[in-house]
Amino acid sequence: MIRIKTREEIELMRESALIVSKTLGLLAKEVKPGVSTLYLDKLAEEFIRDNGAIPGFLGLYDFPNTLCMSPNAQVVHGIPNDKPLEDGDIISIDCGALKNGFYGDHAYTFEVGEVAEETKKLLQTTKESLYVGIREFKAGNRVGDVGYAIQKYCEERGYGIVRELVGHGLGKEMHEGPEMPNYGKRGRGKKFVEGLVVAIEPMVNLGTHKINQLNDGWTILTQDNKPSAHFEHDVAIVNGKPELLSTFKYIYDALGIESNEEDEFRQQL
Ligand code: MG
Ligand code: MG
Repeated sequence: MIRIKTREEIELMRESALIVSKTLGLLAKEVKPGVSTLYLDKLAEEFIRDNGAIPGFLGLYDFPNTLCMSPNAQVVHGIPNDKPLEDGDIISIDCGALKNGFYGDHAYTFEVGEVAEETKKLLQTTKESLYVGIREFKAGNRVGDVGYAIQKYCEERGYGIVRELVGHGLGKEMHEGPEMPNYGKRGRGKKFVEGLVVAIEPMVNLGTHKINQLNDGWTILTQDNKPSAHFEHDVAIVNGKPELLSTFKYIYDALGIESNEEDEFRQQL
């Protein structure tokens, strides 16, 4: 179901989006070789609760943890465990939080120690494709315009776009309408209107777009066991244009990365 938000509701959603953004910022300092994903999960849960929010994924469809933790060839929905991260790994962390009755939903793929050059490039391209997609999320455009833009950007660079999992409308429920595939045809699908809020989240594979699911009922991984990346922002349509509700700035601050990608994105609208 598609639910359009008022300005007041969008401000509440910004609060939820900032909690998940700050949570990932906190984790950015902790992601390193030797640290387990379960430890990071506990840190995130504590931080979310300390901020007056509820972990958004814990118990949702019976998911057992606060974070989805998907290393290397895992695409999404990995379950935290006590296995330490290793130098050269990548780890996709997806975080949800519920506050004031609204969800935030935000993901970033982190490098653990020194990562192979082709993997770095995959992460960079996936993140770029996120902004390429968000740029198309404006009043009058359609669902297919976002998917087309992301797909084209990634496939032109030789990567595989996961089909089975998609972005989504966001609000009082974690998954509202419309579905937001990272592939599609221009001008097709639901038309975007003022007050729509969605999570846009390209899942991009170094090799084949094909995936499998582990028999834990959750973990999605690439069929060829090559790495996969996942970046996600929450975005509202305000004055006809995409407005970022979540931000990677806390991650960049934690990692000492100088980035003005979000300012540049806004300037180019
Ligand atoms: Mg997410
Ligand atoms: Mg999502």
